[in-house]
Amino acid sequence: MAKKTKEPEKCCSFCGRPETMSEGFIPALESDAQICIECIENIGENLAEVRRMISGHPKELENVNIQKVPKPVQIKQHLDDYVIGQDEAKRYMAVAVYNHYKRLAQSKNDDVDIEKSNIIMVGPTGTGKTLIARTIAKILDVPFTIVDATVLTQAGYVGEDIESLLTRLLQVADYDVEKAERGIVFIDEIDKIARKGDNPSITRDVSGEGVQQGLLKLLEGSVVNVPPQGGRKHPEQRMIAVDTKNILFICGGAFDGIENRIAHRMNSNVVGYATKGEHRKLDKYEYLRYVAPQDLKAYGLIPEIIGRLPVITHLEPLGKQALRAILTEPKNAIVRQYVKLFEMDGVKLDFDEDALEYIVDKAVEFKLGARGLRSIVETIMIDLMFEIPSKKVEQVTITRDFAAKRLEKTNLEMLAKNE
Ligand code: ADP
Repeated sequence: MAKKTKEPEKCCSFCGRPETMSEGFIPALESDAQICIECIENIGENLAEVRRMISGHPKELENVNIQKVPKPVQIKQHLDDYVIGQDEAKRYMAVAVYNHYKRLAQSKNDDVDIEKSNIIMVGPTGTGKTLIARTIAKILDVPFTIVDATVLTQAGYVGEDIESLLTRLLQVADYDVEKAERGIVFIDEIDKIARKGDNPSITRDVSGEGVQQGLLKLLEGSVVNVPPQGGRKHPEQRMIAVDTKNILFICGGAFDGIENRIAHRMNSNVVGYATKGEHRKLDKYEYLRYVAPQDLKAYGLIPEIIGRLPVITHLEPLGKQALRAILTEPKNAIVRQYVKLFEMDGVKLDFDEDALEYIVDKAVEFKLGARGLRSIVETIMIDLMFEIPSKKVEQVTITRDFAAKRLEKTNLEMLAKNE
């Protein structure tokens, strides 16, 4: 064919953008086609959606091979390596996660449809709810994310839209929508979106009930449009459709004061069964063991949400014995971490038993809980960590006196405020 004298301007074979309006073109190897940098960028950002477009329908992921999934006992053993006590919660979680895999392994044609068993953990703050969730995440091969319910608000209010809960899940799934659709989301501080007050009819509480309604949609299983970059800072972003039918939701909350409601319910129910003298006043936390759906309702969760969280478990407050164990027993216990840090400088670090007891006593005295243990040990160790690397020392032993002297200088009440 004869060559034309004036070649027409090259355009992107995909979007039609002329070369002069592009940062550059990449030519195809064996044809006249070319693609502009802008298209490449766009496709990269929306790869998951492009995949869907190509396949025409959501790609069927291979069914999970249940033989390869860790059994509940193994999941619990793994949890035992890192989480002290909290046996019931660990068992419930192990079973819930294992059953989640079973759902994923189920063939489409099965006439028994295994329902999701979303789970709610009730227990005082700092007793290991998030730790259990995080630890389980390490042995899973489904995407897992932890999100905080306190940032959520009803659409149209300042804060994050409910859908943004799934943004993090998409991110950990590398924007592979099908993978995200079988993931697990841990929603922390679910109690903070409880309806204030027990009477729904007086005022509509937008930040509580509205958020719960939004959340319900996700728990029930529906297709939601998720902002891939989260938040409302990028109004131009294209939403990604995510089906929550197979996503497992685990919720956690301290539910401060819920024991009063449990006590109230139990006393009014127990009468009639109890024989004389059988009434023993339970410690406020002992009531948590009896937490039931109606207590969550009395606390301000709407019944529909509670209905979608069929598994309820509780965590025990941590006593002195548990705190002492937390210092040294978990695989990455605080004390082990400091021993490792010193070992890297060629120094052998020991803690006297009464120094450890002293640390626990202080955590209890100032109500710092397990979270406070780290701050206390850090305060005791900070000067040593500063000096030791430049000194010729082979061994350091932390005694009770040494620990007490270090802590004297610190205002532990300030630590309590920071917790
Ligand atoms: P929450 O129940 O408020 O989610 P976390 O799981 O975040 O509490 O606990 C805070 C920190 O306290 C953890 O990172 C961990 O270091 C320590 N901790 C709390 N509970 C336990 C526990 N049962 N076993 C071991 N460490 C714990």
